Amino acid sequence: MPHEVDMTKALMMSLKDWHSQQTERWPVRRVQLVVGEFTCVEPDLLRTAFAKQKLGTFLENAEIVIRDSPFIAYCNRCEREYKPDINLEYACPDCRAPLDDIRSGRELKIEKIDWDVPAPVSAEAAARN
Ligand SMILES: [Zn+2]
Repeated sequence: MPHEVDMTKALMMSLKDWHSQQTERWPVRRVQLVVGEFTCVEPDLLRTAFAKQKLGTFLENAEIVIRDSPFIAYCNRCEREYKPDINLEYACPDCRAPLDDIRSGRELKIEKIDWDVPAPVSAEAAARN
């Protein structure tokens, strides 16, 4: 769990930086992340940590959407991609060459941020206020 809590803190900091640079600070609705399998981040724990840490911040109403990125390695000897077994076997299944070229699965990044743009106030509604 501490792993995900720290990851979420770092994520919150990036989001705060991003938010402070915006000219229009609309409420964030959704944060889409790419989480690589090889980061060993549990998406559920990340969601739980985010649900706690967002309270009282501008992200209070935001939800997190996680897209998994598979762990894929490339064997230069066989010239092909393969999928290592995390925690079991990282070498190439054909020639046993050790893992040295990771093509995907190490990412942990913000892919997209969606926010709510308030509906324009109509002249009629403005007159009522
Ligand atoms: Zn190989």
